[in-house]
Amino acid sequence: MLPQLIFLGAPGSGKGTQAALLVKSLGYIHVSTGDLLRAEILKGTDLGIRVSKLLSAGALVDDLTVLELLKSNCDTVSRSYIFDGFPRNVDQARLLDELLAPSKSSSMAVYFKIDLADLKNRIINRRSCPACGEIYNLMFKLPASENICSKCGHNGLVHRKDDQVSVVEKRLDIFKENIASLVFYYEQKKALFEIDASSSSDSVFESLTNIF
Ligand code: ADP
Repeated sequence: MLPQLIFLGAPGSGKGTQAALLVKSLGYIHVSTGDLLRAEILKGTDLGIRVSKLLSAGALVDDLTVLELLKSNCDTVSRSYIFDGFPRNVDQARLLDELLAPSKSSSMAVYFKIDLADLKNRIINRRSCPACGEIYNLMFKLPASENICSKCGHNGLVHRKDDQVSVVEKRLDIFKENIASLVFYYEQKKALFEIDASSSSDSVFESLTNIF
């Protein structure tokens, strides 16, 4: 069984893009807590209604709510996942360790290192396909036809509400508050791999596959 992969990195550091590539090449299951929360909001569930304002403001949802959502969407005993967006702090890292304890495979954390100054532009220019989740960027990854998803043909790419400048700044601040202690946590467990996430997505993918 493939190791459980825990992706750490700032918003916009390319975790989702690389996860999609690993799903295709190695058969991982990608689980993004942000995507799960947005799906709850779209479905209009009680949970979705409760967290909607937090997401729009770029604030964190409480740890246990996100954990429960993760639990109900994963079979961590017998499947290998890429955890994207969880953990976001050391308390969540401990919760994830407990969740993964019965898993048949080991786990490792990959930190997507990137200069935060470059990120704001990357995020503001990010667009995604609401049908298949493919991620585009107006700066360096345009779809072949304007506003049409090259992967599934859906017409109408979306700009996430929380990808607006002021909210992006808030999300980056929360990331800065937590990343050092998270990196330290996985370093101590000897389970941390760092990759340079500032280069093209092909070369980031190469560094990522070199870890295996
Ligand atoms: P990004 O990492 O690009 O900021 P995500 O899609 O991972 O975006 O998350 C979007 C939002 O969902 C976060 O700003 C936060 O409100 C909420 N969220 C996602 N994961 C978590 C988590 N592990 N704990 C708390 N809130 C979360």
